[in-house]
Amino acid sequence: MLPVIALIGRPNVGKSTLFNRLTRSRDALVADFPGLTRDRQYGFGKQGPVPYLIIDTGGVAGGEEGISELMAEQTVTALKEADVAIVMVDGRSGRTAADEYVASLARQHAKQTWLVANKAEGLDPDIVGSEFHALGIGEPVSISAAHGDRVAALMDEVLAPFVATADGDSDKDDAEEKATRIAIIGRPNVGKSTLVNRLLGEERVVVYDQPGTTRDSVAIPFERNGKHYVLIDTAGVRRRSRVHETIEKFSIVKALQAMEKAQVVLAVIDAQEGVTEQDVSLMGLCTERGRALVVVTNKWDGLDSDQRRHVREALERRLPFLDFAERMTISALHGTGVGDLLPAVERAYRAATRDMSTVELNKALADAITAHPPPMVRGRRIRLRYAHQGGRNPPVIVIHGNQTEKLPDAYQRYLINYFRKVFKLKGTPVRMAFKTSD
Ligand code: GDP
Ligand code: GDP
Repeated sequence: MLPVIALIGRPNVGKSTLFNRLTRSRDALVADFPGLTRDRQYGFGKQGPVPYLIIDTGGVAGGEEGISELMAEQTVTALKEADVAIVMVDGRSGRTAADEYVASLARQHAKQTWLVANKAEGLDPDIVGSEFHALGIGEPVSISAAHGDRVAALMDEVLAPFVATADGDSDKDDAEEKATRIAIIGRPNVGKSTLVNRLLGEERVVVYDQPGTTRDSVAIPFERNGKHYVLIDTAGVRRRSRVHETIEKFSIVKALQAMEKAQVVLAVIDAQEGVTEQDVSLMGLCTERGRALVVVTNKWDGLDSDQRRHVREALERRLPFLDFAERMTISALHGTGVGDLLPAVERAYRAATRDMSTVELNKALADAITAHPPPMVRGRRIRLRYAHQGGRNPPVIVIHGNQTEKLPDAYQRYLINYFRKVFKLKGTPVRMAFKTSD
């Protein structure tokens, strides 16, 4: 499971600053997602080998002095979903009533708490410590989110308990396991449960709908056309046997946890509702995490041709960062198109795990450069010398050269698209990393 960290604290202590620092693109990886605006509240970070999910409760309205009711609610929700809470205070201003309130929420709801005094550049940690010790949630770790002081050391400590679990990385399992792991992701009511029913067949309903199956996700193996699959099913997706059973509150964290365990995501959109903000951020997060993906537009039945055109346009306009993925239109209710999904999953998975030989990559790089050379920077041409594969699922292409940090985004996208075409990388995000050797 991906460790989940909640950043909590009164407004203005620096939560968003830390969030941005932790989720900023790591390892100079370039992702080919034009049009993807980072979701403000959820992001992925990585500390050494440990990827984690971070929830920022900043950006929620609330005055400097107090915590609004909405903010308290957001905070409690985040604390319940998180494995670790980072309670942030402002090391420069004294302890406030709002800090005490946040600390009390952490004491009640957090599984593990770290107290962090931010803006501590140039401050004496002992003095900061004596000020915030009284919050009763331990000694504060002094950091500066803005300058980056002691941030990495803090995250090392916070994530230390999760290192062991991260070691068995999914890449290893990929090669060993025959089954392709699939997660069905989408906001409530788009038709996920209906689709699960369609994919699995009705006889499964009884088995997996037993009361007491309340774990966050279950893995349901099934077989189709001689191929093995495992469906990662979250509580929110699990079919509701009774019509009036309450619809569980939508949890982005659970959806992302399911995605984390999967190799391919079926990202479901409701054609009758169109593309919503929630769709955009959910799919953006999947893409950011590097998951192979098939875009499934459900409830295609009952739409006339005008409406269908509208939906297609909305997909282009609002989800441009998903242009790498295959798009399928289905009716989970009637079964139309559902038979095409698993072959698309297979294609996406094959692309995501494709091995690209160094020889082929270098030929593709040379061809791309010949067709369209990189620009000059202050009279010097940026040189891209050679390429090799740096990872799979998602594929990472490492390019060595000089001045690569000056390579314009447009040229990077050109290269990614070139590699996409040559290696038929449809259905998976592709990343590039540059190594400068001058
Ligand atoms: P949030 O409301 O908790 O998300 O706080 P923000 O991240 O928006 O930060 C509030 C203010 O504190 C901004 O003006 C930041 O530039 C500033 N700030 C954040 N981190 C630091 C820091 O480490 N040192 C100093 N001096 N200021 C910081
Ligand atoms: P979930 O919350 O994403 O699991 O969505 P459900 O599978 O519970 O479906 C929500 C509602 O949409 C139900 O009333 C379904 O009958 C309906 N629905 C699901 N798929 C389709 C479809 O393909 N076409 C139409 N017209 N309705 C559908």
